[in-house]
Amino acid sequence: MGTSNEHAPLTERVEQLLDGGLPLTIVAAGDPVLRRGTEPYEGQLGPALLARFVEALRVTMRAAPGVGLAAPQVGVELRIAVIEDPAPVPEEVRLARGRMPQPFRVLVNPAYEPVGDARAAFFEGCLSVPGWQAVVARPAAVRLTGQDEHGQALDEVFEGWPARIVQHETDHLDGVLYLDRAEPRSLSSNLAMAERWTQPTPQEAARALGFELP
Ligand code: ZN
Repeated sequence: MGTSNEHAPLTERVEQLLDGGLPLTIVAAGDPVLRRGTEPYEGQLGPALLARFVEALRVTMRAAPGVGLAAPQVGVELRIAVIEDPAPVPEEVRLARGRMPQPFRVLVNPAYEPVGDARAAFFEGCLSVPGWQAVVARPAAVRLTGQDEHGQALDEVFEGWPARIVQHETDHLDGVLYLDRAEPRSLSSNLAMAERWTQPTPQEAARALGFELP
């Protein structure tokens, strides 16, 4: 995270990070660690430190609060992310956005590919870009492959809001921020979101701000 221990061995850096207490500090956009991409996880931390690191990601995600957190967001360049969404939203929002509850999951070495041609466009935000949201059109369904925290193979199709979450978090592991894929004219402050764009879909925002939806 731009500190003097940047070049210390990975396990030492992760131990120091965790010894600093929870929740961890979330890195904000502008820090190169969010742009460098990550190494595949191949057991570098060992089982005990991996378990501590995953728990730290979970605590930090919940404290934020957020629905996903990727290792680079806490300054660690490993291909690991966590997701969890209790989806406390009104019924009409749940239906429009496919925002069904997503139980806690650990994604190790995730990769995704679109399933079908359908795209879905909604406002999304990022814990590393606090204060702002923007509309991102993404594949409506994706096949996610990788492993879980125990090394068990993961191969699953995600739809609705969970599909958006796994794409957003996997993108972080490739050094991609949601803003790279967003409709620039949709960029809205949290205040504007709360005052104007609480509708289940971004159609009104598209008309008023002048951007296209798929
Ligand atoms: Zn993010």
